[in-house]
Amino acid sequence: MIDNVKSNNLTLIVGGGPAGASCAWKLASFNIPCVLIDKASFPRDKVCGGALSTRAAEILITSGILSDNELEGLTLAEHRTMSLWNGDELLRTYTSQGSPVRIISRRQFDSVLLNKAASAGAEIVTEDTVVSVDSSSVITSSGKRLFCSNTIGADGCNSLVRKFISGRESKGTGIGLEYFIPLTDLNEKPEDLQIHFGYIPYGYIWVFPDSEKVTIGAGGVGSPASPSDITEALNGFMKDRSISLDKYQLQGAPIPSCELDRNLGKGNIYLAGDAAGLVDHVSGEGIGHAVESGFLVADCIISGGDRKTLLNKKNCCISIVRQSMFYRHLLFSPFTHGAAMMGLRDNEEFAQGYWNIISGTESYSEMFRRLLT
Ligand SMILES: Cc1cc2nc3c(=O)[nH]c(=O)nc-3n(C[C@H](O)[C@H](O)[C@H](O)COP(=O)(O)OP(=O)(O)OC[C@H]3O[C@@H](n4cnc5c(N)ncnc54)[C@H](O)[C@@H]3O)c2cc1C
Repeated sequence: MIDNVKSNNLTLIVGGGPAGASCAWKLASFNIPCVLIDKASFPRDKVCGGALSTRAAEILITSGILSDNELEGLTLAEHRTMSLWNGDELLRTYTSQGSPVRIISRRQFDSVLLNKAASAGAEIVTEDTVVSVDSSSVITSSGKRLFCSNTIGADGCNSLVRKFISGRESKGTGIGLEYFIPLTDLNEKPEDLQIHFGYIPYGYIWVFPDSEKVTIGAGGVGSPASPSDITEALNGFMKDRSISLDKYQLQGAPIPSCELDRNLGKGNIYLAGDAAGLVDHVSGEGIGHAVESGFLVADCIISGGDRKTLLNKKNCCISIVRQSMFYRHLLFSPFTHGAAMMGLRDNEEFAQGYWNIISGTESYSEMFRRLLT
């Protein structure tokens, strides 16, 4: 355990989820002294569907943080087929010829990434909460004060670091709710990914099976639905499938619907992952964007703060999330929702485009250019 640390050359990372761990791993790999603080004790659970896009898998492997074998070991299921529904209507079942979407356990995945950061030389402090942040230090609940040259807020949806930069509470946080159902409890095990539209405005219900369980969840980024509306929709969905509600605990976690911080912070304070609002507004994907933004922030620090060039990369997570904020209206707006559902039902290329967005293999603008031509 560290005591009060005074250093002008220390980077402090608040939060040890995928964003913080990736950032710490990269900084430590470049011999930049860094300390990561997380309030949780690891391995810890995180309410999440655990779907890891093809794009996210590629980022993890090409960066070197995970080997092919390590990612394989973390994969509970690989999916290339998804069925798309609008209410009770099966719109289409689509099978991709490309790489799969994987399901991982967040408990294992986050813990492995954090261990990677520690092995690379980052100092990891767990079970201590950052309670106060200023431009050159943080204070933790155990009473430590750590001085630093850079602070990184990878502290998730209700980021304290983001509050310090913006000077206000983050607004517009939505919620995602899930049931985790052991496979042994189900008479009929779903084989493929299922996406069910029509239950929640600007959101959907997902069914993600893996080798151990089926995750049935509901939510949407920027959805106007209240937590009780989402609960009602999800419970109704479960009841229609004769899944007993009494047996399972409903679990929830916030989804950032706050503004995207395109600069990933300000000055020597950086933001990554959910803290920066980096969640796709169509698919809800956030794991891959957390990892990528953790690396981007590390790159900014390694290269001496060249934020502008690094963050303006074409097709990086910031650009993808920005595009999703526009394109979500085409899928979810009451004016275009019907046409979008018909498109998914009647047009194979449209369904392929949706898969490409979920798997991250095509950007929104590339997809629309392709569909238009
Ligand atoms: C219901 C639901 C389903 C989802 N499903 C998917 C999915 O299938 N696929 C996908 O890609 N994304 C999914 N997401 C989004 C994904 O979970 C997040 O985008 C992702 O976890 C962001 O990673 P992060 O590292 O930014 O934050 P987190 O994973 O939230 O990690 C933040 C860490 O910071 C720590 N922390 C917070 N405050 C403090 C503090 N003050 N001091 C110290 N430590 C602190 C926390 O303990 C935590 O460990 C889902 C989200 C929800 C809510």
